[in-house]
Amino acid sequence: MLKIGKEQFKKDYIEKFIEMHGTELSEGTDYNKYEALAGLTRDYVVKMWLSTNKRYNDTGEKQVYYFSMEFLMGRMLGNTLLNLGIRDVCKEGLSDLGIDLERLEEMEEDQGLGNGGLGRLAACFLDSMASLNIPGHGCGIRYKRGFFEQKIIDGSQVEAPENWLKNGNVWEIKKPDKAQIVKFGGHVRVERRDGHLIFIHDDYEPVLAIPYDMPIVGYENDTVNTLRLWSAEPLSDEFDFSSFSRGEYSKAIEYKNSVEAISQILYPDDTLYEGKILRLKQQYFFVSAGLQSIIRHFKNNGVGIRDLDEKMAIHINDTHPALAIPELMRILMDEEGLGWDDAWRITTNTISYTNHTILAEALEKWPIDMFKRLLPRIYMIIEEINERLCGQLWNRYIGQWDKISRMSILSDGYVKMAHLAIVGSHSVNGVAKLHTEILKKEEMTDFYYLYPRKFNNKTNGITHRRWLIKANPQLTALLIDTIGDSWIKHPTDMEKFERFAHDRSVQGRLYDIKRDNKVRLSNFIKRTQGIDVDPDSMFDVHIKRIHAYKRQTLNCLRIMALYNRLIENPNLDIVPRTFIFAGKAAPGYYLAKNIIELINSVANRINNDPRVNNIIKVVFMENYRVSLAEKIIPAADLSEQISTTTKEASGTSNMKFMMNGAVTIATLDGANIEIRDEVGDENIIIFGLTEREVLNYYQTGGYSSTSILSSNAILKQVVEDLMNGQYSSDKDKFKPIYESLITYNDEFFVIKDFDSYIKAQGRADILYRDFTEWNKIAITNIAHSGIFSSDRTIQEYATGIWGSGYLYKNL
Ligand SMILES: *Cc1c(COP(=O)(O)O)cnc(C)c1O
Repeated sequence: MLKIGKEQFKKDYIEKFIEMHGTELSEGTDYNKYEALAGLTRDYVVKMWLSTNKRYNDTGEKQVYYFSMEFLMGRMLGNTLLNLGIRDVCKEGLSDLGIDLERLEEMEEDQGLGNGGLGRLAACFLDSMASLNIPGHGCGIRYKRGFFEQKIIDGSQVEAPENWLKNGNVWEIKKPDKAQIVKFGGHVRVERRDGHLIFIHDDYEPVLAIPYDMPIVGYENDTVNTLRLWSAEPLSDEFDFSSFSRGEYSKAIEYKNSVEAISQILYPDDTLYEGKILRLKQQYFFVSAGLQSIIRHFKNNGVGIRDLDEKMAIHINDTHPALAIPELMRILMDEEGLGWDDAWRITTNTISYTNHTILAEALEKWPIDMFKRLLPRIYMIIEEINERLCGQLWNRYIGQWDKISRMSILSDGYVKMAHLAIVGSHSVNGVAKLHTEILKKEEMTDFYYLYPRKFNNKTNGITHRRWLIKANPQLTALLIDTIGDSWIKHPTDMEKFERFAHDRSVQGRLYDIKRDNKVRLSNFIKRTQGIDVDPDSMFDVHIKRIHAYKRQTLNCLRIMALYNRLIENPNLDIVPRTFIFAGKAAPGYYLAKNIIELINSVANRINNDPRVNNIIKVVFMENYRVSLAEKIIPAADLSEQISTTTKEASGTSNMKFMMNGAVTIATLDGANIEIRDEVGDENIIIFGLTEREVLNYYQTGGYSSTSILSSNAILKQVVEDLMNGQYSSDKDKFKPIYESLITYNDEFFVIKDFDSYIKAQGRADILYRDFTEWNKIAITNIAHSGIFSSDRTIQEYATGIWGSGYLYKNL
């Protein structure tokens, strides 16, 4: 454990400031002061980092590598200080120097190298692996441009390029000596040498992969793991510019640009798959660089190549890194000289795969001709994997050609990445019980019958260190005061808090904490958006990516209906509410952008209508990201988790909200079901179609949104309001939404679930008015949130998938 007293810290800090900036502390800007604190923190971490690595080498314990195209880390400073166990000392020391720690923390740019839930999950997992003493490291891409910055201009989303590296990044250390070369394009020749087939790759385009390492500090346990992000650079030595004629010179520039493009941008889409060659390049780039460096590391440490599967586990976060399978085969065969069977044994023992979605439009498949041209050797290996798979299927399913071609990795001119991931790994997991059941019984059912033992569930989680201890210090203090602090290391101990569910004094304290958080958020909203909101109103929060299946439209329609009711009856007795939305739409997702416009038009209308604006307000907060979520969630009363049942694989913001004492209004989708099972029906508000009803409609039809409209006057009115100029002088403005509901028969059952949702919101009003009942529910939710800590999830991965469970038992 790092032992630093306040005086020592102050001395170190002042020295660091002067060393970095060459001026006195009193001369510095807040940003300078942040840089000095971050730099000092890094200095503290580095020694621990080296000794962790040394420990891993000495013990030779199995290392886990979490491969992910996205890591949505957010800010590093506060959580690193927290995990080091020195945040309080720093806070006090800085305070002595007249500096506010939180103010400095606000200076840090979010590391937004991810789209949403999938990338944030990877970040929570890194925190949990380090905190559980599991040697688990991240591997990904150091995108120069993270997720775009969202601005709302005249009610519409405008995307601004994001530039998180503009002031440098104190958390990373560039390691040029650990660079790798990744090869694209070219041709593969086969030669026979000493009775073996040798594969020779010619005329390829070489790309230099440079790693940047970031320390991932465990919670008060001296463990520092590594997040290694790869950056693409041209291989300058290959090109002697002076010898180039004019034509070749421009070719060299072209080469440079095409290489640098690889780690330039994060694709801003999480649910739609696009067959862009640059994305395939990105995938192979980081997978190849990552695997080469891992294998080089083990060889340097004297690990025999045939024992690799005892020394490493490689986890792939969705199919984006599934090329790890053929790439590992290539390295083991072409570079290490193993035969197919040994290479296959090591590969499948090493690799495990998490499926994140059953949305058909999100399943990756690459056109074969594109794939072959970019990755000729990798394609040959996939062909061989597929040959062997089909051989097995031919024997097992004699004559069932349909089934065999359905299961093939190569079919209809495509490489099917999910099939490759399933065949080449020893474990396939879904991310919530319902999601895993749907995988087994619907989406992947053929593979489930072929490999029943590969399939398993690992319900997602969130790190309670960031989402409770860091984001909600007052609630943390209340928990420690009432039940002690054992839950910090053993989050399920939060159950002890349930004893206080009916305790009036604890209910009162919880209420006061929520109110403080709401005041803080209100001030932030006033400062950033210029809107006055009432901290005594119910904060009704819907924050996540904007997507048709997440049904922000349903939420918006019910606000429009409520507005109509209030206009009709100004004395309507309802709970005053502040409706808070935030979320980014993919830049090319027309409908999602239209939903943002609708929310902002409704906000504009309501917030400026004196007949209602002292009762309800609507706020769309700009540029949703981790640091914003950390401000909003502790201030939420009601958590909107209203996706179309079967569509949200798990959801994780649902868990963040319950842990902060919000009440959930939800469909029985994803992990909402497990939240319901934990807290009981009386402590959550459930509505909407069931899984069976939804699947039945999809399979046998029989749904008509217009027929429902004709029997529901309130709903009919709000749907008309989309097109009658109520919310825009341009009557066609919300036509995309209107058409999705009416012309295209409401794929996501917004119309169908409307009534049930309105009734559920009525129940929320009744509960909220009952102070004792509401706070009892909030306490019960907090008490049962421990199981949704990603520490629980990671323990399950470690023991159930990675075979590194003995480590945890030794704690
Ligand atoms: C947790 C989180 C998500 C995932 O939210 P869902 O509601 O589960 O989709 C997305 N973005 C950010 C910034 C998050 O913190």
